[in-house]
Amino acid sequence: MSNRMILPGATLGVLGSGQLGRMFSIAARQMGYRVHIYSPDSDSPAGQIGDVEVVAPYEDLDRVRDFARGVRVVTFEFENVPSATSAAAAEFVPVRPDGKVLHTTQHRLREKEYLSQNGFPVTPFRRVATLGQLQHAAMELGLPSILKTATFGYDGKGQQRLESREELPGAFERLYGVEGILEACVDFDREISVVAARGLDGSFEGFPVFENAHAHHILDVTVAPAGIPPTLYREAMELARGVLESLQVVGLLTVELFVTRQGGLLVNELAPRTHNSGHLTLDACPTSQFEQQLRAVCGLPLGASTLRAPAAMANLLGDIWELAGGVPNWAAALSDPAIKLHLYGKAVPRVGRKMGHLTATAATATEAAAAVRSARDRLLWPH
Ligand code: AMP
Repeated sequence: MSNRMILPGATLGVLGSGQLGRMFSIAARQMGYRVHIYSPDSDSPAGQIGDVEVVAPYEDLDRVRDFARGVRVVTFEFENVPSATSAAAAEFVPVRPDGKVLHTTQHRLREKEYLSQNGFPVTPFRRVATLGQLQHAAMELGLPSILKTATFGYDGKGQQRLESREELPGAFERLYGVEGILEACVDFDREISVVAARGLDGSFEGFPVFENAHAHHILDVTVAPAGIPPTLYREAMELARGVLESLQVVGLLTVELFVTRQGGLLVNELAPRTHNSGHLTLDACPTSQFEQQLRAVCGLPLGASTLRAPAAMANLLGDIWELAGGVPNWAAALSDPAIKLHLYGKAVPRVGRKMGHLTATAATATEAAAAVRSARDRLLWPH
């Protein structure tokens, strides 16, 4: 494997320039790599850290080829890049995870079909291309159910919860001609995620299972370890290992799961990259999810992904700036010395926009969650 390793000093390419790319770039620079960022945005969270920020559309394949010529490997922090973009990069250097993984995971329907055909448990679903199919699917799966666009969905974007048959024609219209997927509404006990890496040599490392609380379909607070029985913990980890193995992932991939009220697991979604729920690894694990992505895509040995202490993470959305009527009270939040602040360098705080996060470690996950929640509340205190 050693001759295939991409060693410190080399230049790495990242498609996408948001906070995930930023934290990846920090990890890469810490280990002596150079980083080139490619996205349509300028002064981006990742571009502020990378050595070079290429600002061009993903569809400009000549620019993508130029970009790939200047790096040793391409990875991404945003999976919704066109297949042609990763294929153009792959003409020159490895893309990790590769185009096949991207192709499967950037389309909800393809992803669910792949998972169920390969024996992984998924939420019951139906393909919806016509109103007739939607009506039929709603009859089979029952209402309420959730209609999602097959592409470009994350953080609840492109999702509609359907309660009655009368809503179906309007909901179908709102797909605006994009293929849809209808999912049974899972009455889950809790939501968990497994962020895991697979190396060039097939080695596997999973981070501790995270437990995720959402607000308005956006991740709000993550705690680790998840409050689930050890057998379920092992099952979730084995499921993730199976998915990475089946897809032959080289790199990092996140499996989002529902724990049903009967104690079973259902895969909600895969993300072929680092994940918001993994941010606490920066402060709570010997190797962060970003360093692990780097190690995996460079063919280095994977790092230890154990939890040093129970931990929690709270997202900071632009809503906080709105509610605070300006700059949040950082000093008040940091008055608890256990609190760590991470901001993504985004100039404009918009409602729903992920601006940063807080983490804490504590004696228990519950205490850590209480610490990040109360620190976040203190952001609204008057200065
Ligand atoms: P997604 O964009 O698919 O990750 O969905 C965002 C959030 O919406 C999930 O984390 C769940 O809280 C909720 N959700 C999505 N799909 C379902 C479902 N089939 N049943 C119940 N809740 C869901």
